[in-house]
Amino acid sequence: MSPLVIAIDGPSGSGKGTLARGLADRYNFAVLDTGLIYRALGSRLLRLGWDFTSEDFAVQAAQGLTQEDLDNPDNRLDTVALAASRVATFSRVRAVLDQYQRDFSKAPPGGKTGAILDGRDIGTVICPDAPVKLYLVAEDTIRAKRRFEELQSRGIKGIYADVLDDIRARDKRDKERKTSPLCPAKDALILDTSGLTSKEVLSWACNIIESSPAFKARHKA
Ligand code: C5P
Repeated sequence: MSPLVIAIDGPSGSGKGTLARGLADRYNFAVLDTGLIYRALGSRLLRLGWDFTSEDFAVQAAQGLTQEDLDNPDNRLDTVALAASRVATFSRVRAVLDQYQRDFSKAPPGGKTGAILDGRDIGTVICPDAPVKLYLVAEDTIRAKRRFEELQSRGIKGIYADVLDDIRARDKRDKERKTSPLCPAKDALILDTSGLTSKEVLSWACNIIESSPAFKARHKA
């Protein structure tokens, strides 16, 4: 039986990553943070002195992305997130990165029976046939507060107002780009996580997953 694919999309700070990891623990599924791939590329491009406009240069860098790039601690910086959102607007760059994500969803590592991918276009472009599609939203001020606290906990200095500006700039770019813009798939279930704890979000998602025909078919008594 093919792996059960769970697509989670939404803007930065909406709780996708926490939910994806919580679900991966609960069901022993593989998890892929697709934003990290774009961040790794953004970080690599910043190091190479990219001019933010050359798509050919960015495509070459995408083709040469390594595990070392993915493990770079700089990937969490907001400067890198902004570079990631700039490079994410290029369709030929996305085509290079899309294949890896699709392969992961079809054959998750470690022979796991399910794959959870979180990002911006998982339900719409990468895994349009995923039987469970979740889309998280939250007020931008709350998302900025979460992000600010996360940076602080990692010992990274920042100013809340700058974090909020960055989030708004990225939201706008991610939603307005022509290729694979951030938007819910028609069949996605949407949750506003603004006033919810991560436990409440996890429990909402588990109810949806466990009542889906795809999950039931795999867990017949
Ligand atoms: O999820 P995260 O905030 O780490 O993503 C960084 C950036 O990468 C996003 O702002 C977005 O521009 C881009 N991205 C994307 N498609 C994805 C995941 C991330 O365009 N599937």
